[in-house]
Amino acid sequence: MTRDTTRDELPRIPLLINGEFVQSRSTEWRDVINPATQQVLARVPMATAEEVEAAIASGREAFKTWRKTPIGQRARIFLKYQQLIRENMKQLAATLTAEQGKTLADAEGDVFRGLEVVEHAANIGNLQMGELAHNVAGGVDTYTLLQPLGVCAGITPFNFPAMIPLWMFPMAIATGNTFVLKPSEQDPMVTMRLVELALEAGIPKGVLNVVHGGESVVNTLCDHPDIKAVSFVGSTRVGTLVHDRATKAGKRVQCMMGAKNHAIVMPDAHKEQTLNALVGASFGAAGQRCMAVSVAVLVGAARDWLPELVEKARGLKIGAGDAAGTDVGPLISCAARDRVEHLIARGIEDGATLSLDGRKPQLDGALKEGNFVGPTIFSGVKPGMTIYDQEIFGPVLCVAEAETMDEAIAMINANPNGNGTAIFTQSGAAARRFEEEIDVGQVGINVPIPVPVPLFSFTGSRASKLGDLGPYGKQVIMFYTQTKTVTARWFDDASTGGVNTTISLK
Ligand code: NAD
Repeated sequence: MTRDTTRDELPRIPLLINGEFVQSRSTEWRDVINPATQQVLARVPMATAEEVEAAIASGREAFKTWRKTPIGQRARIFLKYQQLIRENMKQLAATLTAEQGKTLADAEGDVFRGLEVVEHAANIGNLQMGELAHNVAGGVDTYTLLQPLGVCAGITPFNFPAMIPLWMFPMAIATGNTFVLKPSEQDPMVTMRLVELALEAGIPKGVLNVVHGGESVVNTLCDHPDIKAVSFVGSTRVGTLVHDRATKAGKRVQCMMGAKNHAIVMPDAHKEQTLNALVGASFGAAGQRCMAVSVAVLVGAARDWLPELVEKARGLKIGAGDAAGTDVGPLISCAARDRVEHLIARGIEDGATLSLDGRKPQLDGALKEGNFVGPTIFSGVKPGMTIYDQEIFGPVLCVAEAETMDEAIAMINANPNGNGTAIFTQSGAAARRFEEEIDVGQVGINVPIPVPVPLFSFTGSRASKLGDLGPYGKQVIMFYTQTKTVTARWFDDASTGGVNTTISLK
């Protein structure tokens, strides 16, 4: 299929409302495009206001019974769900690669990191537990209930179309909420396949709903009085709008947003491992990861490692994600490629040294049409340059220099973002000082992309996040529940006491 294929012949992505996959009545549709070739894969609707209303109403109705579903019954659905995801892993990865562009191995990683959250949701019986204090006053006990909130909403970005939806609806639903998901309109196909599997695993009708769309659908989710919490992952610009709007409407909100992740390279680091880690974390997924390393700060004698870094990056293979041996796939859209190329031109204008130019790589056949930019490295990068100050979200690594570790730490702490950071060193003392002094929420020590597993929570900080609680792990139990305290007295002798006009629990 090409862009000229009759639009009517293309698969149309359905909405999920009240347990039924339904075709939207919208007049506004957009193409889902393979970014390696421009092949149009499907069409996705911008849902109408009535359809969004119906999805929320279905979640509200289903909440009445779902909130009372025994915890073991909820957990067993996610046990089944993790099994179905495993059984369908290859097919899910193939769909993801076709619409998003990343390599098949990385697509499996995308699904797998989401699967880990599903496994965690299957353990909900151990997670959603209250506290009890016995005998806080004579015959009085106080205990807490962690109760679900109601209908919650999730809005997801294009770069992890499996992992990030799975950060959201499994934990929301496992804790007893119902959910309306708004996937990225750029690559909704793998998300929809995961939603189909969730229904197959036993999620009852109305508990999970899906609407597609852009700004107006998202605004409705932020404003609607029946939506009690909003989880957003995406750019800082949109996340800030979502946070402010949904907060003003009285909702609980968490927004995980843009980044500029620095890796400090100390001269005592293991050189080969460090350079491999930097190259993988900067150019994997074509740099379209919120935790990609986008700035390397070479400290002291590590500054001499630049030529070897450049040679390793030059050796990466650019191509379609489904081709054997590909290291770097395409960017998500023509607009994203144009933006990255524009920022590279800006870096040159601002005086950085273009040590490796990945623009306009030579590719054959259908891939000539793809949105490819190869690994690109700037050296001599300084704060104040556009390529340093903005998130590029492409395969562009900025290399900066520092005399000392303290200078490097000061640079990172002065940057507004706080998603991830890493240090490469063989000194335990240096690593320990780094973890203590650095003002970034996720810290790697000889680990370039320190995304925690769901036993912990994703803990981006500062300008990379709005809202207190992270999207999975223990924090998300608090996000998706309301703590109720119960103070109870059971008299074993009804004749004791008398009128008490004080505040104390005598
Ligand atoms: P985006 O902000 O453009 O889109 C995210 C979602 O918001 C999509 O569902 C989109 O349809 C919707 N949206 C777009 N414009 C909107 C508007 N004006 N009003 C309301 N909703 C709107 O982000 P993206 O390009 O899909 O994803 C890339 C960004 O996401 C990068 O900045 C990346 O750093 C960030 N990201 C952050 C994390 C994290 O955990 N911190 C994880 C992944 C991605």
